[in-house]
Amino acid sequence: MPNKITHVFFDLDRTLWDFEQNSHDELSAIFSRHQLMMKGISLVEEFIKVYKKINEECWELYRMNAIKKEDLRSVRFAQTLEYFGINDPALSERIGLEYVTNSPMRTKLIKDSHEILEYLNPKYSMHMITNGFEEVQHVKLRECGLTPFFGEVITSEMAGAKKPEKKIFDLAIELTGANPATSVYIGDDLLVDALGAANAGWQAVYFNPHKVTHNHSFLADIQSLAELKTVL
Ligand SMILES: [Mg+2]
Repeated sequence: MPNKITHVFFDLDRTLWDFEQNSHDELSAIFSRHQLMMKGISLVEEFIKVYKKINEECWELYRMNAIKKEDLRSVRFAQTLEYFGINDPALSERIGLEYVTNSPMRTKLIKDSHEILEYLNPKYSMHMITNGFEEVQHVKLRECGLTPFFGEVITSEMAGAKKPEKKIFDLAIELTGANPATSVYIGDDLLVDALGAANAGWQAVYFNPHKVTHNHSFLADIQSLAELKTVL
């Protein structure tokens, strides 16, 4: 029988904020704005596909502390443009800046986000732990009207540690006065979120819309946010 939950912590990207859709929309806008078709990239979907693959690789390096934040922003676009034979450092610099400035202003959320936050808000102390840049994550929360739902917003940048490191979960406990055993973390990444939280002694809800198979036992494994009503 699990302890009674008192504190609910959310992940942001891909759990509440629809990262895939918002990113796709901004990349499409960049493709049109800079007339990348005229520069030799024939299909917007091809541009997005290549960018996503390169971005994943760059993020992996960032997670391993092998690349710096400032470099990540332009390098991923420089490499994408180079893939299509475009060598234009000034353009990749500019697109890199536009992407990080504009994407967080986009407001598509995962289905039922607002509804479930409204439901949980009166029942629990709610906070956020997110691997992301301080200014970027706060813009997303504000633009989507999510700021009022969360007390502490702990970013990896301010914590000096990234999920799944225990250090960021410990900091969250310290800042909120919560108890790990009665805290639950809700996130979409098996390793980074669910196992990270479990490893820190927390309960975990794995938001698993793609039904990834695994052998772990969490407080819950849910395919939609609305299912949280049956758990919390
Ligand atoms: Mg996430």
